Amino acid sequence: MSDTPLRTPTLLSVVAPVFDEEELVEEFVARATAAIADYNFELVLVNDGSSDRTPELLDRAAEADPRVRVIHLSRNFGHQAALTAGLEHAVGDVVAMIDADLQDPPELIQDMIARWSQGADVVYAVRKQREGETAFKLATASWFYKLFDKLAQVDLEPNSGDFRLLDRRALDALLTMTERSRFLRGMTVWVGFNQTAVSYQRDARHAGETKYTVRKMLHFSLDAIASFSHVPLQLATYAGMLSAGVAFIAIPVVIALRIFDSYLPGFGSITIAILLLGGIQLIALGVIGEYVGRIYDEVKHRPLYIVRDERNRPTAPGRLGATPPARAGLPARTPERIV
Ligand code: UDP
Ligand code: MG
Repeated sequence: MSDTPLRTPTLLSVVAPVFDEEELVEEFVARATAAIADYNFELVLVNDGSSDRTPELLDRAAEADPRVRVIHLSRNFGHQAALTAGLEHAVGDVVAMIDADLQDPPELIQDMIARWSQGADVVYAVRKQREGETAFKLATASWFYKLFDKLAQVDLEPNSGDFRLLDRRALDALLTMTERSRFLRGMTVWVGFNQTAVSYQRDARHAGETKYTVRKMLHFSLDAIASFSHVPLQLATYAGMLSAGVAFIAIPVVIALRIFDSYLPGFGSITIAILLLGGIQLIALGVIGEYVGRIYDEVKHRPLYIVRDERNRPTAPGRLGATPPARAGLPARTPERIV
């Protein structure tokens, strides 16, 4: 691919968010550690405020294997925030992110590393097939990717999830993006660098149910589009221009009808016009509201997540081979503090 000599990771970090996954946590840790046993690695598991036995099982895994790190968040902050927490705490020179439910096969990380060693900075996994997903999930996902492709300014491969591997340079670039509304798979494309794909078959969940409710999915897709596109805001302008255009055309028509005396006192048409315009205005206001709400979230500058506790924190200060991310205007972050 390039003239970069083949390289191996000094330290591989694998980051996985975990939320109420007591049925599969142990299996995940076993399979992931086996899949990357050839490398010097750390497995960074972020407990996103689980309320079942997950925290206990994670602590036990950390006790049994010092390479397993656990970061307990103080409550459920959501998948993207939990992933961000893991990425910020990872110290490796190569970092992979993966779902903990074994829908993404951890063995694929080896293929991703092979691509990285050939010079790729970002390797994303594209799902060839998705097993065990409901027709509803598949349909909404496909609509979403089509809409996102039309509206957004980044070219996101359809059917690529958050299962990705990043070189430290790309990760540091990603971590300088401090926005609250996070759509990590779009953000990893946005940072650029040398991007490449590997394809895989997405398995069914190993156990348990999806933690993405319809509400969370809707919010997530709105976040995605609002983070990468202004088109919805501009839609209001186009709708306004269209209805004003129709009004201008209607003026001579009304005059002509008046002259030729077939003018109808149009209660119905006026009502329709009012309802139509009122509807368009309300939709436009709603769209603006979505953006204003996100602007409000940004200016509050709240932390994305709060760490309650940590297991197996690396003793060596600083990131391995890392340039500290530039965080304009933000206080320096340390792992044990609010982050
Ligand atoms: N997850 C999380 N916090 C949440 C929701 C999900 O950390 O609020 C984790 C979950 O444990 C899993 C991953 O994110 O490891 C993906 O979630 P899920 O499998 O439920 O999503 P789906 O694959 O159905 O899109
Ligand atoms: Mg899943």
